[in-house]
Amino acid sequence: MVASLSLEQPVTSLEGIGKEYQGRLKRLGVDTVADLLLLFPRRHKDFSHVTPIASIHPGEEVTVRARITKIVAVETPYKHVKLADALLDDGSAKFLRVIWFKQPWLAKQLRPGQEIFVAGEVELDRGRRSGPSDLVMKNPQHELASNQPAHAARLVPVYPETEGLTSRWLRPKVQSVLPLASQLEDFLPLEVRSRRRLLDRGEAVREIHFPQSPAMLEAASHRLAFEDMFVLQLAAQLAKRARQQEVAEVVAFDQPAARAFVAALPFRLTQAQRRSAWEILQDMARPVPMNRLLEGDVGSGKTVVAAMAMHHAAQAGFQSVLLAPTEILARQHADVVESILRPFGIQVGLLLGSTPAGQRPPLLAALRDGSLPTVIGTHALIEEAVEFSRLALTIVDEQHRFGVRQRAALRSKSQGAPHFLSMTATPIPRTLARTAFADLDFSRIDEMPPGRKPVETRLVPPERRQEAYDLVRDEIKGGRQVFVICPLIQESDKLGVRSATKELEKLQKEVFPDLAPRIALLHGRLKTAEKEAVMRRFQAGELAILVATSVVEVGIDIPNASVMMVEGADRFGLAQLHQFRGRVGRGPHQSRCLLLTDVDDPVTRERLKALEAHHSGFELAELDLRLRGAGDLYGTQQHGHEFKIRNLLDTALIKDAQDEVGRLLDRDPALRGEPALRHRLAGFRRVFALD
Ligand code: ADP
Ligand code: MG
Repeated sequence: MVASLSLEQPVTSLEGIGKEYQGRLKRLGVDTVADLLLLFPRRHKDFSHVTPIASIHPGEEVTVRARITKIVAVETPYKHVKLADALLDDGSAKFLRVIWFKQPWLAKQLRPGQEIFVAGEVELDRGRRSGPSDLVMKNPQHELASNQPAHAARLVPVYPETEGLTSRWLRPKVQSVLPLASQLEDFLPLEVRSRRRLLDRGEAVREIHFPQSPAMLEAASHRLAFEDMFVLQLAAQLAKRARQQEVAEVVAFDQPAARAFVAALPFRLTQAQRRSAWEILQDMARPVPMNRLLEGDVGSGKTVVAAMAMHHAAQAGFQSVLLAPTEILARQHADVVESILRPFGIQVGLLLGSTPAGQRPPLLAALRDGSLPTVIGTHALIEEAVEFSRLALTIVDEQHRFGVRQRAALRSKSQGAPHFLSMTATPIPRTLARTAFADLDFSRIDEMPPGRKPVETRLVPPERRQEAYDLVRDEIKGGRQVFVICPLIQESDKLGVRSATKELEKLQKEVFPDLAPRIALLHGRLKTAEKEAVMRRFQAGELAILVATSVVEVGIDIPNASVMMVEGADRFGLAQLHQFRGRVGRGPHQSRCLLLTDVDDPVTRERLKALEAHHSGFELAELDLRLRGAGDLYGTQQHGHEFKIRNLLDTALIKDAQDEVGRLLDRDPALRGEPALRHRLAGFRRVFALD
C-alpha cells in the first residue's frame, strides 16, 4: 500500500480515511500524507516496560503481555453501565482482571486464547468479592501482541486531539506512513547536521512518533526543535541583512536641537525615555533604515519620545508620519504631539477617514511639496494617494493591528527606505526578542513618570461579585468613572456585539438600575461617529460606566476613571489584562482593577494572581509566555504543529542556531548551495506578527 503512496497525496488515499475523517484531520491542519507525518505528538506515554503480572504493584503504569482466559460483556447492576470484563494470564502465577467500561463489544472483538498487550494503570480490585485476581486495569490501551505495537509495550505517542479524532485512531494511520518519512526533504545543510550531530529529518520524524527509546525521543525532538529555531533565525537574519542593504535618509544628530526639545517640555524625561530617545536618534543618524520597537506600558510616555524623533526629523528638513490604529488614538497623539511641537513652529497635520473631502487637497498638497513636515492619522494615510517630498521617518503605534499589506504600502511612500519605529504597550518577552524578532532593535521604557500610583489589582471569585459591584457604586458616588470589559464569548461574535450587549442589559436592569441612563456601550459594530460620541460622553463625565469589548480601543485618556472591571478575565492573556489595567490610574485617584472569573481551577487562579503582584508589563509578558505559550500571545500557529514554547526559552538552542545561521550566511548569503532550504523559507510564513 505504502509503495504507491507519495507525500503530496491527500490523506484520503490512506486506508480507513474517508470524507468525515478528512474533515476532522483538516481541523488539525492535516491535508496530505506529509502533513500527517508532521503532526507531532504532544507527549508520549511510557508503556515500554512489559511487566509480569505477578510483579505489578498497584498504582503502577505498565504494559502486560498475556492471554485472554475469559472475556464477557456484562451490565453493572445499579447504574446499568455496559462493559467488557476479561481475565488475563501471562503464566506468572497471577491473573489480571481488565475492565473496559462502555465498550461491551470488545467481548466479541477479542476472544479467549488470544495474546494481547494491555497498557494502563493497575489498581487493587476492591469491588471484587472473590475471584482469581486482586488486580484490575480499567480502560487500558490494548492491541493484539506483535513485534510492532502501536498502543502498548513502548513509548506511545499522544496526539493533539480534536473532536472525533483520538490518539488511538491516529496511531496506526501514522504508523502506516512512517516509511515515507525518509522522503521528507532535509533542508538543514549537511554541514550543520554533522557539526551539531543532528538526526536526519526522516529519522527524527519516525522517532518522534514511535521512538525506540527515551534517548532516541530526545534526539528526535532536539533535531526538530533545532530546525524550527534555525529557520526562524534564518528568516530574521535574512531580513536584517536585506534591510542593511537599503539606504535611508541621514537625520544627523543635532545636540542643540535635542537640548531645546527637552528644555521646552513641561516635565523632566525619565531616564528610560532619555535612553530610548538616544537610541532612536542614533539610529536615524545612520544611512541604514532603523527598524526599532519602542516598548512601554500605557502612560510610560512613548508619545513624547516619538515626538522627539519627529522634531529631530523636522529640524533637519525631513518629513515624518505617525500612524495610529483608530481615530480616537490618532487624535490623542495629534493633540500631544502638536502641543509639544507648536513652540518650535513645526506644523502637525491630521488625516483621518472622517476628514472632510474639502480639507484633504490642501493637506495632501502640503505633504507632496514638503511644506508640512509632520502628519498623524489612521489607515486613511495609507489608502489615500498620499505622497511625501522627503519622508525620513515612519512611526506606527500598536503595529500588530495593521496588516502586512498595509505596512508594505506605507514603506512604498518614500523614495528610500524610511526609518521605521513602532510603538507598543504589549512588550515582547526578551526571549522572543532574540529569536522570532531578531531583525528588530528594541528600546524599552521600563519606568513610569514619577507620581503614578500602581493600580490596585484584585482577583474576584464568583462568590464575591457583589463586593465588586459595591465598590463600583462607591466610586461612582464619589464622582469617579468605571470601565467594564467583556470577553468575546462566541467565535461567531467576533465584534463582541452580543457579549457586550448582554453585559449592558445586566448592568442596566439588574445591578445598577438607578444608573441605567449613565451606562453606555462600545462595541465593534458601532460606526466611527457613534463610537466617538460615546467616548466623548464618557470623557465629559456624562457616563458613569462604559461597557466595552476587548476589540474596541479604549486607549483614550480618562483621568477620572478609577475602576477597570474585566469580565471573564481568564480568557485574556496577562499582557492584555495589563493593558486594560493601564486605562485607569491616569489621574490623581487611587485606582483599581477587578478581575472577574467564573473559572475556579488553581492554574487559572495562579495565572491571574500574577497581576496582583506584578505591575510591570515586561515581567508580565515573560510570565505570560511561560504560562500560556507564544501561540496565545501572538496568535502564532505554525503549519502542522505548534511552535514549542520550550524551544523559545532554550538559550543554548537559540545560540547554536544563531551561530549556524551566521556561519551559513557568511559563507553563502544567497543560499545558492541550499535549494532545499530556499524552498523551505519560501513556504515559511513569518509566524510572528511583526516583520
Ligand atoms: P504612552 O504613549 O506611553 O501611553 P504618553 O506618551 O501618552 O504615554 O504619556 C502619558 C502621559 O504622561 C501624557 O500626558 C504625557 O504628557 C505624560 N508624560 C510623559 N512623559 C512624562 C514624564 N517624563 N513626566 C511626567 N509626565 C509625562
Ligand atoms: Mg500612547
